[in-house]
Order: sequence, then structure tokens, then C-alpha cells
Amino acid sequence: MPDPLATIGPRVMMPQTERARPDQVVNSAGGYVFAIDDMKRALRFLIMGTAGGTYYVGEKDLTKDNTDLIRRLADGDQADELHQLVLDVSLNGRAAKQQPTLFALAALCASKRPEVRARALASIPDVCRTGTMFFTFLGYAQNFRGWGRAFKRAVARWYTEKSPEDLAWQVTKYRQREGWTHRDVLRLAKPKGVTGERANVLDFVCHPDADTMKGPVPDVINAFLVAQASTSPVKLATLVAKHHLSWEQLPDTALAMPEVWDAMIPTLGITALVRQLGRLASMGYTKPFSDGAREVVKRLTDTYAISRSRIHPMTVLLGSATYRSGHGVKGSLSWTPNPDVMVALEAMFYAAFGNVEPAGKRTLLGLDVSGSMGSSFAGTVMSCVEVEMALAMVTMRSEPEVFPMAFSSGFVPLPLTKLSTLGEAVGMAQGMPFERTDCAVPMMWASRNKVAVDTFLISTDNETWHGSVHPFQALQRYRDIMGIPARLAIVAMTSTGFSIAPPDDAGCLDLVGMDTSTPAILTEFSAGRL
Ligand code: CA
Repeated sequence: MPDPLATIGPRVMMPQTERARPDQVVNSAGGYVFAIDDMKRALRFLIMGTAGGTYYVGEKDLTKDNTDLIRRLADGDQADELHQLVLDVSLNGRAAKQQPTLFALAALCASKRPEVRARALASIPDVCRTGTMFFTFLGYAQNFRGWGRAFKRAVARWYTEKSPEDLAWQVTKYRQREGWTHRDVLRLAKPKGVTGERANVLDFVCHPDADTMKGPVPDVINAFLVAQASTSPVKLATLVAKHHLSWEQLPDTALAMPEVWDAMIPTLGITALVRQLGRLASMGYTKPFSDGAREVVKRLTDTYAISRSRIHPMTVLLGSATYRSGHGVKGSLSWTPNPDVMVALEAMFYAAFGNVEPAGKRTLLGLDVSGSMGSSFAGTVMSCVEVEMALAMVTMRSEPEVFPMAFSSGFVPLPLTKLSTLGEAVGMAQGMPFERTDCAVPMMWASRNKVAVDTFLISTDNETWHGSVHPFQALQRYRDIMGIPARLAIVAMTSTGFSIAPPDDAGCLDLVGMDTSTPAILTEFSAGRL
């Protein structure tokens, strides 16, 4: 007679649809996994947001879960930790989209704890670096609190602490967003004690007319006013060259003039340039062997400008996918991609992660290609699988010893190599079987084939459920069989609260997909320094 007690205990292999440890929770696919702690979850939200939801959870529910968490953290003991995280993600450009960070700042500005509130209010000018970010923040903040004295003072500082030149640049470049104009904000914030040139700039915001200007203003305002009234390509190009005006400061008609782009490209921001590539190509500006193409490639490969711009790799990845496709995401623009531009974008993608040091460990890349990974990554036009293939290339290129495999309910061979281009890697997402999910497959495959692995790097949405063994048990068994204290890093591709990694195993780490710091943290962890 079988002994019923012989099948009880944390090391007994259990199917993922059954709870193997009391601290496991059920994920959205019905499998048992671990819950990540609140700050890790907050980081996933700040980096990836909730746009698009996940395969299992709609955008509305995912948003509510995450925003409830942020509001709870903003009022609680970990509010300062959340504020530090907001500053880190924002100031170090870790996230592609700023909305989640700005939302968290808005929640902190309405914290029930006065000292938290004061620190959050004081950081508004640091976090809201552009007028667009500032307007987005104000929209969120209004849903959290009223325009009391402290808030007015904090908002006014966004205007009064900038140099007149910076201020003039901001109010002409970012004029309106989300139903806000600077005039609306100034009416509410009523900055006090502003004098001199800065006061003239604020006066220009409320009466944007050269004839009623009360006193001297920075040159960019006069250049802006002349440009807005101009239709001459030569005149506009001269203004752009002299004052480095950006496309937002020009009338719409100017953006169809090649002369204007000739003048603009040498000083145009890298992020803006990547976003305008489709427009430039459709104008014929970057056609083969043209001066325009040469100049654009020169700018796209300017490593100093790239590192200074802090362009986010996701922005480059989306820009390069759109450019390669030869047509706009919306609208009717179409073009023939220039291969030199594609190569430049590819190099820029890797450069945007900064200098990635190798860990020098035998690294097995396990990429979840189950059905749920076919859904949108962070609300973008790319799927989670496409993005994880691109991310995998960062490790493929940086680690000397790396083996890539894909998995759903079983092992899926993956023809990825160190020489694969980004386009090829992303394209491999197309041919995947998209079956059921078993995140234990990479460890089980390595056990069965006696493959010596120091670090398993698995990217997944953590919605595993299909396997006969839990991933953490498969890892334990792998360590036992091979005698290698193998580590497991999980790259989350959605902002849910789940992980396949047990929270008490120091050999496991949760990372966030498309966080610019992910490759650096992974290296430290894989090398055993973390
Ligand atoms: Ca899945």
C-alpha cells in the first residue's frame, strides 16, 4: 500500500496547477507561482506601465491593481522608498514612457504624510523635465488633490527656477498637451515676485504677440514668432540654423521643406530624429546616395550624442521596426528603407543600454514563446515575444558563452546566433508555436541533457501553469543533479504581481523587461556579485 506521507514536503515534485509551498499564489492562468513584493511590483509598473493589459488581464483591471498599489505605497511606510524609485527611474531614463512615473509622483504629492508630500512637491521640476511631462503630471495631480497653497507654490517653481533662456525654450517648444496650456497653469499657480526677463517670458505666454511685448525676452522667442509667421524655406532654414529651433517651434508647413531639415538635422535631438525617420524617408530625404541620408546616418551613429540623449532602447526598437516596415503605424506615409539607416538604428539599440559588461558565465537564455506572449508589450505595436527576442540579443552579444532556446509546453529550437540582426531576431517571433506555458522547461531540458549552466535567464509573463513540476523545483533538481549552484534570473514582460522565482532563494532574481538597467543588474547577479 502506498504511504500517503511519502508524497508530502517542499521537495516533492508537484504539477504547477497545485500549490507546492504555502507562500504560493495562483496566477491569472491558474498556475501556482510566487507573489513579488510591493516595491518590485511598483518598479514593473514604472518601467512597463499597464497600457494594453496582458493576455489574461484587461488594461482596466491591470491599471486598477497597479494604481491601487501606488496609492497605498504613497500613503504608507514605504512612501520614501517609492519616491526614491520614482527619482531613479525618471532621472536615469530607465523607462521608455514617463506616464507611470508621473502618476506615481502625483500620488506622492497627495500623500497623507506631510513630509512625503513636501519632498514630492519639491521634486516636480526635476521629474517634469519637459513641458509635456509637466502637463501630463498636472492632469494626474488634479485627480489626486486641489490647488492649495503648497501645490501652487510647487507648480510655480517650475517657471520661476528656470533661467529665462530655458523657460523661453520650454514655453515655445511645448506649448500645449492634454488640454493644458502654460497660460492655464500660470492662471492657477500665480507665481509671485517674478521680475526682469523671466517676467517678460511669462507675460509673452499670456500675450504671445511681438507688438505687446513689455520688455526684452530671450532671442528664441523672437525667432519663434518670426518662424511662425514665415512661409519662406530659405528664411525658415536660416532661423533654424541660427537659433537651433526644433520642429515643434516651426509652422507645420515647414516640416515638408527639405531646406529646413538640412538646417535642423545637425542639432536635432536623437530621440526626435528617430521619431522623424519615416517622415524624412517618405519625403525622399534619405534616398540612396543622398547628402540627407549621409547626414542622418552620421547623426544616428554619433555615440557621444546618443549617450547624452539618453534615448531609451524601446524607442529605438520601435523606431527601427517602423522604419524597417517601410510605412507608418498610422497614416498613409510609406518609404523604401535605407539599409545604412537600419544598420545605424541597430547599433543605436545596443548603445542605448550603455556599456554592458559580460558576466562570463555559462548562460542559458530561455524565452517563453507560449500563446500569451503574443500579446502586446506595454501597449506598443510589438508583442512580448518580439521584444524578448530583441532583449535576448543584448545578452547574446555581451556574454561569451550563451545558448538560446525557446519554450512553451516543451523545448523549441531557436536559430538565434551572435550574428543575428535585430530584424532577424524580432522576425523569429513569427514562427513560434505559441502553445501552453511551462516555465520549468529550460531547467528540465538542461538536466536531461546534462548541460552545465551557471545562469538561467528566462523571460516570461510568469503565467506558467502547464508543467508537471514547478519551475523552482526544476531549478532545485537541476542544482542537485548537476552539482552546480545555478542561478535563475526572471525577466518579467508584463506588470503583473507574479514570479516563478521563490522570494527566499538568493540565487533567484526578478528583473523587468526593457528597463535600461536590466543588462547591468543581470551581469552583477550572474557573476555572483549581487
Ligand atoms: Ca503563457
